Amino acid sequence: MTEIFSVDTNISINPIGFVQSPFSEKFAIPRQSSLVHNGIFYLRFYKPFNTPQAFMGIEEFSHLWVCFLFHQVPIKKFAPMVRPPRLGGNTQKGVFATRSPFRPNRIGLSVVKLLAVEEHNNEIALRIEGADLVDKTPILDIKPYIKFVDSITDANSGYATVPPKILPVDFTNIALEKIKATQIPNFKKLITEVLGQDPRPAYLHGQDSAHCHGMMLYNINIIWQVCNNRFMVLDLEL
Ligand code: SAH
Repeated sequence: MTEIFSVDTNISINPIGFVQSPFSEKFAIPRQSSLVHNGIFYLRFYKPFNTPQAFMGIEEFSHLWVCFLFHQVPIKKFAPMVRPPRLGGNTQKGVFATRSPFRPNRIGLSVVKLLAVEEHNNEIALRIEGADLVDKTPILDIKPYIKFVDSITDANSGYATVPPKILPVDFTNIALEKIKATQIPNFKKLITEVLGQDPRPAYLHGQDSAHCHGMMLYNINIIWQVCNNRFMVLDLEL
């Protein structure tokens, strides 16, 4: 067998852009891409990458791979095992057997839907849907999603075989009024999609939470609680 040497080569890469997302903080972001369909998301690019030439033909693709940096994960000593939230936070798995953000090099990969290629002052911005990324996430690269290569319909997905269960979400009148006042398109739908996936840690799933929780979308704090496995949006702090 070939002897394996430890790698001490430092690789330095520069982000090509950043994600503009309604997720103002990590809490409540869906745990994978393509799980929300509302919200205003853009991929924005820095000079010289934002030239229309670099994106010529991209509109022919419906979906893109976004390679990004989990920039909000602190750089720590390598931990070979992680506890995936999907398994309730109690079971350990090898980091490379998971999609955990707590990994060496902090590199993430998400599939997103391309809605529109927009050009403002000769700079490209890609309107997308379905990102699981916090606002200002650095983008390292993007590539078109190619169905016949990337979609393996008989693949085994280990411990992650089904999408999260969706719970019902209700709103108080005051919350509905404030949502309307923001004039953010489809804001109620976005809140419903995000909350319905139960953003609480897995050990709280299935339990009521009489005390109030908050989650930040578009820098607006949304106050909610859980009763009989239903979410109630109580208020918005505008
Ligand atoms: N689809 C990607 C990301 C999965 S983890 C992949 O498989 O690589 C998704 C979680 O990462 C989100 O729920 C959010 O909590 C977290 N996250 C999103 N953007 C982040 C960022 N910039 N820094 C750190 N964590 C982030």
